[in-house]
Amino acid sequence: MVTSPDVRSTLRGTPVVPALAYGPAVLVRSEVAPDAIARFAASGLEPEAALETYELAAQAVSDGFARKAEKASGAAAEVLTASAGLARDKGLRGAVRKHLSAGEDLLTAVHSGVEQFVTVFTGMGGLMAERVTDLHDIERRIVARLVGEPEPGVAAPETPAVLVAEDLAPSDTAGLDPAVVLGLVTERGGPTSHTAIIARQLGIPCVVGVHGAMAVPAGTPLLVDGITGTVELRPDPAGAQERVAADAAQRSALASWSGPGATADGVPVKILANVADGESARAASTAPVQGVGLFRTELCFLNRQDEPSVEEQASIYGEVLGAFGDERYVVVRTLDAGSDKPVAFATHVGEENPALGVRGLRLSFGNPGLLDRQLEAVAKAAAATGAETWVMAPMVATVAEAAEFSAKVRTLGLKAGVMIEVPSAALLAHRVLEVVDFLSIGTNDLTQYTMAADRMATDLAHLTDPWQPAVLQLIAITAEAGFHAGKPVGVCGEAAADPLLACVLVGMGVTSLSMAAAAVRPVGARLASVPMDLCEDAAEVALSATDPAAARDAVRRLLLG
Ligand code: PEP
Ligand code: MG
Repeated sequence: MVTSPDVRSTLRGTPVVPALAYGPAVLVRSEVAPDAIARFAASGLEPEAALETYELAAQAVSDGFARKAEKASGAAAEVLTASAGLARDKGLRGAVRKHLSAGEDLLTAVHSGVEQFVTVFTGMGGLMAERVTDLHDIERRIVARLVGEPEPGVAAPETPAVLVAEDLAPSDTAGLDPAVVLGLVTERGGPTSHTAIIARQLGIPCVVGVHGAMAVPAGTPLLVDGITGTVELRPDPAGAQERVAADAAQRSALASWSGPGATADGVPVKILANVADGESARAASTAPVQGVGLFRTELCFLNRQDEPSVEEQASIYGEVLGAFGDERYVVVRTLDAGSDKPVAFATHVGEENPALGVRGLRLSFGNPGLLDRQLEAVAKAAAATGAETWVMAPMVATVAEAAEFSAKVRTLGLKAGVMIEVPSAALLAHRVLEVVDFLSIGTNDLTQYTMAADRMATDLAHLTDPWQPAVLQLIAITAEAGFHAGKPVGVCGEAAADPLLACVLVGMGVTSLSMAAAAVRPVGARLASVPMDLCEDAAEVALSATDPAAARDAVRRLLLG
């Protein structure tokens, strides 16, 4: 990459939020400056004094997390509160003391203590293994405090800027302010990474997986193009500002879109919201959506040790159903615990390959009561709120699984469906449709399993891309099966939130698109500008492309000229 101050160049990555931003680069440090560490390491402290110094630093880090938690909500607040507790954990303190007593200097003792926890957490798997990133985050922050440096991570830029980072931790993203963070560029991370999800929620133009991003000198003017996935260094300032202004004008036109979802020639396509709890459902209910296409019930229980009673579950689900009880409908997904969403009372621990293990519907194989109680609670909430309620199962791999689940749901008088996330289910969609009322394609997992690429693996972003032709083929097979069966087939993975891909999906025959509330207007407005026959052409060119970049380019040329 060229870093000379007056040379223009372009970096490429995976586009996440389709919008443009122009501003100076602010680099987010994820490590403490090595010279500060070297100076401190040379200073030397007696074990007693060292432990006291550690306690003060750990408490300050914990307080910092607690303050951020107060300002955050939902899952972000939970993560931050858990980190606040972990930073001042007595066990961690004990481990540091032990290593100090064994003669290690303070920084080495902190590292050894944290590593001891990392080993234990990793060995426990599931929920605990997920906390290893947080442990490393805590270690970096404590070390920064000890050596008298600011804690690493995102400090709000003083003037509007583009943040450039290796990747962002949950604690970094909790306080991002779109007023000063014009754009986000990360060296690592894929379209389903934490950074991508938060950028989408906040509507910040974002490109992830940008090789060479961290080598960009601080202050370099950047044009972030979240539509094409490019980051231009030192573009012509007037031209860049013009493009950003044109993009903003177009986006504000999109913001006035008010539904209902349809193509330019009036073919109806339901535009729905993805929600996690009552709070997000109430917020989404004010967007121009026709309902909820994905209520991720497991997200209500990430911090629960024990299974809530049927009554408690019914009241939690009732909050979401109640927000949409007005002629709209809600698709409730049964617990998708396990792998990237560990739930203490359901997840199997110690699996070697949790993404391929006992997760989602598979949890009910050895514990049918778990599913039965959840379905009972959903039915109670549906009866209490009067909301039209559809229920679907995640991680379905066979027709028999779909049939068994569907029979249980139909007995309760509710509409039954399954998610298409496993290639086997997509290939047999026509058979699955014989036993269910609807399908919903989870493109995040369908991409992961089709491409054999962990959706959390930051180095595999080019594979975990829903524009991959093989993934598009499976979606097309599923949509066509729905068309022939005369039953709805929706998409509720992140693919539905990409306005261009949304047109492709509709061209394949998908009947609903469910997404984060922030994506509703851009997607709805784009779809409203494209007639159905052009959506079909877009599907055809995307399906015949050989890779995601070619598919994106071909569809962009066709739809945007
Ligand atoms: C998906 O896999 O696309 C999906 C919607 O489910 P989740 O992202 O919750 O796994
Ligand atoms: Mg999934």
